[in-house]
Amino acid sequence: MRVLIPVFVLLLLGGWWLLDTGRVPARWTPWAVPDPAEPPGLLTAWQLNRLGQEPAACFDWLDRADVGVSVLPDREDGDGCGLEGAGRLLQAASGIRYGAGVTARCPVLAALALWERHVLQPAAVQHLGSRVARVTHLGTYACRDIRTTGGTGGTGGMGGGRRSEHATANAIDIAGVTLADGRVLTILRDWDRQRPDGKPVSEARFWRAVRDGACDLFKVVLSPDYNDLHRDHLHLDMGPFKTCR
Ligand SMILES: [Zn+2]
Repeated sequence: MRVLIPVFVLLLLGGWWLLDTGRVPARWTPWAVPDPAEPPGLLTAWQLNRLGQEPAACFDWLDRADVGVSVLPDREDGDGCGLEGAGRLLQAASGIRYGAGVTARCPVLAALALWERHVLQPAAVQHLGSRVARVTHLGTYACRDIRTTGGTGGTGGMGGGRRSEHATANAIDIAGVTLADGRVLTILRDWDRQRPDGKPVSEARFWRAVRDGACDLFKVVLSPDYNDLHRDHLHLDMGPFKTCR
């Protein structure tokens, strides 16, 4: 047992040295800043959340990632609501337009940029043969509590009078997309659509790929699979919890 302690310490120091000297890709280094060109990994959501603790560094990251943002002043709206380290999206790096303005905390904007590039566009090309031109969302900032269905259970300990991540613009609800070829897809219509043989249509497979990919980038991802309140959107947030349903 005594022999194992120095071995363990050596392994720990070796691991630290490898991470700290940049010999390990940023995606495997907890305190690294994600490289926008690198596909997301297990630590990316955590890294983005950590980046948001320093808004100036986070907005700097958005700038380097070619995301056009107007930085908003911090604002207290009372009752646990307000904006801190938030910005308004002017120009997405991917060229995607959003149906309504996107005002959100910096880590949400950063996660969206990586989601467009590494998840949304590849999934659209793979499953639908066209790129996404426009994203429709149902909102980012709303001074409210978490909605619960009541009686159906399965809220995973969340909800119950707690402020929603929307109360601090730390979330976005994605409802649909318009493809470059003009097709319009909505989660409400497509999520459970099946072919006559019972297999999911390509639109349904696209939405599941979009949901699954978002799980590497956002802390919380809730889809129609979670509960009926999410039958028409994907809730994506950068709050303290980690869940993907
Ligand atoms: Zn939401």
